Amino acid sequence: MKREITGRGGKLSFDAVVVGAGLAGCAAAISMASQGLQVAILERGQKPGGKNYFGGALYTHAIVELLPDYMDWKPPFERPVTEAGFWFLSETGVTKMTVQGGYLDKSPADAFITLRSKFDVWWADQAQRMGAFLIPKTTVVDFLRDEKGHVTGVLTDREDGEILAPIVVICEGVNNLLTQKLGLIQHDLEPSRVALGVKQLISLPADVINSRFGLQSDAQGLAVSVLGDVSLGLPGMGFLYTGKNNVSVGLGVNLDVLAEYRLKPYEVLKHYLEHPIIQPLIKNGQLLEYGAHLIPEGGWTDLPALFTDGVMVAGDAAAMVNALHWEGTNMAMVAGRIAGETAVLAHSKGDFSSKTLSEYSKRLKNEFLLKDLRQYRGFSKFLDTHPQFMDVYPSFMNDALGLWFSAFGKPKKQLFKDIFHSLTKRRSLLNAAGDILSMTKAVMGW
Ligand SMILES: Cc1cc2nc3c(=O)[nH]c(=O)nc-3n(C[C@H](O)[C@H](O)[C@H](O)COP(=O)(O)OP(=O)(O)OC[C@H]3O[C@@H](n4cnc5c(N)ncnc54)[C@H](O)[C@@H]3O)c2cc1C
Repeated sequence: MKREITGRGGKLSFDAVVVGAGLAGCAAAISMASQGLQVAILERGQKPGGKNYFGGALYTHAIVELLPDYMDWKPPFERPVTEAGFWFLSETGVTKMTVQGGYLDKSPADAFITLRSKFDVWWADQAQRMGAFLIPKTTVVDFLRDEKGHVTGVLTDREDGEILAPIVVICEGVNNLLTQKLGLIQHDLEPSRVALGVKQLISLPADVINSRFGLQSDAQGLAVSVLGDVSLGLPGMGFLYTGKNNVSVGLGVNLDVLAEYRLKPYEVLKHYLEHPIIQPLIKNGQLLEYGAHLIPEGGWTDLPALFTDGVMVAGDAAAMVNALHWEGTNMAMVAGRIAGETAVLAHSKGDFSSKTLSEYSKRLKNEFLLKDLRQYRGFSKFLDTHPQFMDVYPSFMNDALGLWFSAFGKPKKQLFKDIFHSLTKRRSLLNAAGDILSMTKAVMGW
């Protein structure tokens, strides 16, 4: 049931304030507003999604947990992901390892290729449909505190910009200035654990996309992570997603790598887009958008304290990203939802102290989210220290398969010798065995 917005001492007052109308923020707002809380979502952009940029694919498990009937509200998805996997680029070739059908054959699909400029508006509409108030063009610059120092609301950049609320959910994204301001994390973003994602959104007719990517219709979509000759042999990973009438092609490279090699992000992206395998796929396409956004890849290492009296933090602001699996959107939505549910619990008890809000952290520990961040805690560092996974192995795979499929009419003993030589001229067997062990450890969290 909707209630009037109340004012205390001339100040706006809500049951809860959410900072940021991104994926985490609107998830938190939906879960609180749907339970009758009076919620304000403050967004610094002109509109939701205006400041947001991603690959990318969204995962429906995180949406359905909040909106079981989400498909009835016609989410603006581009295409379902019906084919997914890895492409390994050598200088001139590609080895493709993708899957279609089987586990991916679901309706609705587990993942949808999406544009944030459209999706975020829809996502915020859902929060408003539940009764949340969206206040755009408003930046939260600080917190209001009582005499004990407990947060009692936020200060915005608007005239008379104080807004009171016993609960503030910080969903400010990767530039976690407010999270730092509260002392929930003690350091600024660390360049070795933050990637810069750069991407071009390229317009192409749907039938051209379908024929170039082997899709039957726009009810099919391809999502791939691209490794190898993507980022000039430096630690980084590319991606490619087919939209309805557009293709998203981009990559992520760590900030310290860009700085160390004095590389400009657009130079790295240009190299990728001009690759002989990628270029024909986007040929004659029209550039629709060109953007960049940071990705917090520190995960477990950069996880802040997730709550304090009257405050919880969710999504990229809390480094909730699993870079290997391109999972960030679902982590943001799940954390936002659980923060919202914890706020409802706090209201039911009339207790907004960290004791009650610790429930948020407890519940996250039982989710894939904190389990995965913990398991993958060494992965970002592993990529940094094992650049051979970006150049040596993808080009070896291409050579090995190329040799295999061109060895017709030749003695196969020579074929195996050639494959062996193709590996050992790049990396000794001992080192290769060590690399596999290190990767297994990084992925398994040993
Ligand atoms: C290139 C790239 C590709 C990616 N691909 C994928 C993918 O395919 N799949 C996937 O799951 N994840 C992907 N991610 C990660 C994913 O985009 C993020 O994890 C996700 O957007 C995080 O959501 P969030 O709500 O925490 O933050 P955001 O979506 O960044 O939202 C934060 C919001 O807060 C607002 N804000 C910030 N500060 C303030 C303030 N002080 N006052 C008011 N408003 C404020 C911002 O304007 C913004 O709207 C990708 C990221 C990048 C950069």
